[in-house]
Amino acid sequence: MMLEQNLQRVRKEIAAAARRSGRDPGDVRLVAVTKTVGVESVRQAAALGLKDFGENRLQEAREKVAAFPELCWHFIGRLQSNKVKDVITHFTLIHSLDRFSLAEELQRCGDRLDLEFAALVQVNVAGEDSKSGLDPSELPDFLDALRRMPRIKVEGLMTMAPWADDPEEVRPVFRQLWELRRKYRSPEMNLPHLSMGMTGDFAVAVEEGATMVRIGSALFGVRRG
Ligand SMILES: *Cc1c(COP(=O)(O)O)cnc(C)c1O
Repeated sequence: MMLEQNLQRVRKEIAAAARRSGRDPGDVRLVAVTKTVGVESVRQAAALGLKDFGENRLQEAREKVAAFPELCWHFIGRLQSNKVKDVITHFTLIHSLDRFSLAEELQRCGDRLDLEFAALVQVNVAGEDSKSGLDPSELPDFLDALRRMPRIKVEGLMTMAPWADDPEEVRPVFRQLWELRRKYRSPEMNLPHLSMGMTGDFAVAVEEGATMVRIGSALFGVRRG
């Protein structure tokens, strides 16, 4: 079966990249991005032992999340404020906390529902107009503001690298996210996770310290663009 072979190959490449950089392969979590595939593919992936799944749009995710509520669902796309309630009640981790107004809405909604939840702050390291995320210069103030929003458990940083033919071109992007974490982590906000690396560049991201990689096409064979 194609998915099984793909998964083996991806796991092998993650492990090899981790070892090259002196890391434990077990410290890298594979998030299977199912945004363009159906419930049946989620079932197959779960049967192969995958536990973490990523979706970038609530509407598309609903059916899959409802079918497999026991899996860990990661919200990886741009989150609209009016979808906050559904996302914090159904997803394990939000990777895309990218603006102050969203943080405020998350905190308000957490208060209302008496819920705490985990999130990563998305940083637009490469400064691409087409991508969401904070400018790196905004990060310290943003993290400061989050200290006053106790419903949001900030567990790290996330970035999307620009598309590149050769993943070596985007190595500096991953290295900078690692550096931002080193600079801005504190005892109260330790930022353990770095969510970085997709199909085209995950090996380089792991070498640069990714603790979560978000992989769609390399697993499910879907080609985009
Ligand atoms: C689609 C998507 C991915 C996975 O992309 P692939 O190149 O298919 O692995 C990862 N992260 C985000 C935010 C995405 O939207």
